[in-house]
Amino acid sequence: MVQIQNYINGAYTNAVSNTWIDNYNPATGKVYSQIADSDDKDVEAAYQSAYAAYGNWKTTPHEERFILLNRIAELIDKNNDALAEAESIDQGKPKWLAKNEIKRAAQNFRFFATAAMQFSNESHHNEGHTINYTLRQSIGVVGCISPWNLPLYLFSWKIAPALAAGNCVVAKPSEITPMTAYLLGQICTEAGLPNGVLNIVHGLGPKIGNALVSHPKIKAISFTGGTATGKHIASVAAPMFKKLSLELGGKNPNIVFGDCDLKKAVKTSVESSFLNQGEICLCGSRILVEKSIYEDFKTAFIEEVKKLKIGNPLNDENRVGAIVSQMHFEKVLSYIELAKQEGGRLLLGGESFKGTHKNEQGWFIQPTIFENLNFECRTNQEEIFGPVVTLTPFENVDEALQMANSTPYGLACSIWTNDLTKAHRVAEKIESGIVWINCWLVRDLRTPFGGVKQSGVGREGGWEAMRFFTEAKNVCIKL
Ligand code: NDP
Repeated sequence: MVQIQNYINGAYTNAVSNTWIDNYNPATGKVYSQIADSDDKDVEAAYQSAYAAYGNWKTTPHEERFILLNRIAELIDKNNDALAEAESIDQGKPKWLAKNEIKRAAQNFRFFATAAMQFSNESHHNEGHTINYTLRQSIGVVGCISPWNLPLYLFSWKIAPALAAGNCVVAKPSEITPMTAYLLGQICTEAGLPNGVLNIVHGLGPKIGNALVSHPKIKAISFTGGTATGKHIASVAAPMFKKLSLELGGKNPNIVFGDCDLKKAVKTSVESSFLNQGEICLCGSRILVEKSIYEDFKTAFIEEVKKLKIGNPLNDENRVGAIVSQMHFEKVLSYIELAKQEGGRLLLGGESFKGTHKNEQGWFIQPTIFENLNFECRTNQEEIFGPVVTLTPFENVDEALQMANSTPYGLACSIWTNDLTKAHRVAEKIESGIVWINCWLVRDLRTPFGGVKQSGVGREGGWEAMRFFTEAKNVCIKL
């Protein structure tokens, strides 16, 4: 059985405690590997290794950083199939989907490799009076904590800009999906990344995540995960005056107007509802449909969802894989019960799904659609993070906006309409950090990524990430 070790100072090591946590394959419900159960001693060792590497890394020429990060991207691409299979087994997502995500992880490294070359300091000239120049200096040792839904993709989305900006990193992947982060260590060594520049510590969030966040010398924390965890992290890190980037939960509206291209809206809504079993922070789990096309949309949507095959994630025919853990499986099923209690009319699914052969004990849930639920009920306000969506009719733009903005979250929104004026008007008034018009999950890595309200603080992506991972120092010269 594979033992997932920490990657500290360029070498794989057991946790100091030499104890292990079981790691499950969600599609079989069986233990298939073990994870180092690290504690604060391992975090300290990782910090010391990062600190020792920092002096050289921060002065490494930009072009060399570019070459190293680009080499990591190339090696991720070269190992796409093996990494995708590992991700699929570890997370439960279909392998075909994992292949796309691993490709996107390579793109993250490639994108921020070029950022290392192009990121620049600013200067402001006040003719005859002053010249100000603003240095963007690396911070030091930073902490990156990522969730289980898009494991290597979100891990690399943090690590790559942190390294590109000249920091050394102590990173913690989710204990639920540690495998591809473990494999990344090997890739970094092969790429020639100097020892200690990236350190990966495995184990439980409340133990080592907390040790990272409360470490007095780790100066910035980039976190993606649930809102409750984000709140806790902020309460620990804010009084220590650390830089904080928090990418948290969502309960995103998908607003379908009567004048949209119905076929496209239905096709993409199936993806935005059930891709990755609905375990994407950007999924549009609240589908708001204008009354004039409500019945047409509903009929076509149900028809399309019925075609999604569920089962063994390694079989390319299957569109829906397994739910990541037994605990999350039970949580999603409990929300299905809640929706029924709240008066929801079940249109499709609503039950677990029994796989065949090896997958009989896997944690599968049928794509589930409810209607007849008030927009203020718990099912429509709380993040379920699974294959469960609701359909709600609305009368006009104002009502759509009222419903869309009614949750404590504000991450993303999709708008479907052929009336561009209406689309712009709604986009302007919607309370979210990301808006897609007539599309979903179309990403340009240069754009700011993040949420408002309880969906987070700060933005990732492009220069926003490079600015987060640097400190600005202004130098003023009197002429
Ligand atoms: P969690 O908040 O449970 O965990 C996220 C990470 O934080 C994990 O690595 C976890 O470790 C760690 N952690 C847990 N407790 C602590 C702690 N006390 N201190 C420091 N770190 C800790 O989220 P999930 O993994 O369940 O991910 C799902 C959530 O992530 C959803 O709410 C989803 O919306 C959100 N998300 C947001 C995105 C965004 O960009 N806004 C993108 C993707 C997901 P461990 O797993 O070992 O407990």
